[in-house]
Amino acid sequence: MHTPEKGPANRFRVIVVGGGGTGAAILHDLSLRGFDTVLVERGESTSGTTGRHHGQLHSGARYAVNDQESAVECVEENAILRRIARPALELNDGLFVAVSDEDEAFSGRFLESCRACGISTRLLAAEEALALEPNLTPGVRLAVQVPDGTMDAWRLPMMFFSTARSQGADIRTFTEVLGLESVAGGVTGVRVVDRRAEREYTIKGDLVVNAAGPWAGQVARMAGVNVPIRPTPGVMVAVRGRLSNMVVNRLSPPGDADIVVPQRNLSIVGTTSWFVETPEEALDCPEGHVEMLLEKGAELIPGLRQAPVRAAWVAARPLIGDKKEESGRGMSRAFRCYDHRAEDGVSGFVSVAGGKATTLRAMAERAVDLVCAKLGLDPPCRTRDKVLLPHQAFFSRG
Ligand SMILES: Cc1cc2nc3c(=O)[nH]c(=O)nc-3n(C[C@H](O)[C@H](O)[C@H](O)COP(=O)(O)OP(=O)(O)OC[C@H]3O[C@@H](n4cnc5c(N)ncnc54)[C@H](O)[C@@H]3O)c2cc1C
Repeated sequence: MHTPEKGPANRFRVIVVGGGGTGAAILHDLSLRGFDTVLVERGESTSGTTGRHHGQLHSGARYAVNDQESAVECVEENAILRRIARPALELNDGLFVAVSDEDEAFSGRFLESCRACGISTRLLAAEEALALEPNLTPGVRLAVQVPDGTMDAWRLPMMFFSTARSQGADIRTFTEVLGLESVAGGVTGVRVVDRRAEREYTIKGDLVVNAAGPWAGQVARMAGVNVPIRPTPGVMVAVRGRLSNMVVNRLSPPGDADIVVPQRNLSIVGTTSWFVETPEEALDCPEGHVEMLLEKGAELIPGLRQAPVRAAWVAARPLIGDKKEESGRGMSRAFRCYDHRAEDGVSGFVSVAGGKATTLRAMAERAVDLVCAKLGLDPPCRTRDKVLLPHQAFFSRG
């Protein structure tokens, strides 16, 4: 096993801020490339958006028509995750279902766009779709089968954490970054508080990577720089009973209540979309969202209307954005890395933002390539092929 060189306590080559899926994948990539690293997360690991999302392993089809950059990222990463993280996935495929004239008319562009993005499709007549998924509305006109799937939103990042820890990475939960340390306009570390011990201390590093998801703008402001994050919450509602085996999407441009993801014996209907200034404003489900999700979702699977509700919750997307957009539906799900030395004159600090849980590994690869370039090193990325340890390994000792 490769173990990175350890420096003095609380001095690391690279410090990662944020313990969601993105931070977990960055820590894993850094460790595999031989860096001495620490990750700080203010809550429990995955306690931000990562632990709350829908769990759709995207094939990219949802974004093929309007957001091809994200669609291509998803189809590539979907194939890689099948190789390296199989136990966190259910390879149950997805069905895009047309239930109206408009949906049917959209199918031509949809199929053409999927082809252009390299996403495989299988066109099904209504009877074929109903034979596969008998709980679909009898009004289904046609459907397209794609390589979507279901992921375990918690197990997937925990597999990255397990493997990173086995390579020697240091993971500090309940450790909140209060501020960035800097010398002569360059970031040199983080000032943190250990929330369990209520103890403040400093961690020094050659480079700090901001992977704070919808909070990335707040962390960037600690260095006096801007990362244009627009926290964009969405509501999801889980009902009891697995009403489909495949992930069911409406065959239309992305909108509200157009996805049903089967998770074990639940069906999760999502989502809605609006903007907030800070993710903390997105803790409660706004009035009417749950009812609307069930009503519109029932246009795809009528049984959703009668199914008992198990839970409803909100999470904030870390979208990169333009203030003019109204709800977030038109904003790209692609991701960006920011070199704050080149863009803002602040050295020792990079940010990665946007993306999807499906693209966490690619976000990490791009962010760590940037880290390497800044440190003048070129160890190759090995995360495309490194099969991850099971999530249980995170808890085993020795
Ligand atoms: C409604 C909804 C549905 C979604 N469905 C899907 C889906 O089906 N499939 C899919 O692929 N993607 C989905 N996504 C997108 C996906 O959830 C996100 O892109 C992904 O989880 C973001 O991960 P992250 O690690 O970047 O952010 P986060 O998981 O939010 O991680 C950031 C972490 O930083 C920590 N942090 C913040 N500030 C500090 C600080 N000062 N000090 C220390 N730590 C700090 C936070 O506590 C948090 O844990 C969905 C998103 C939403 C909102």
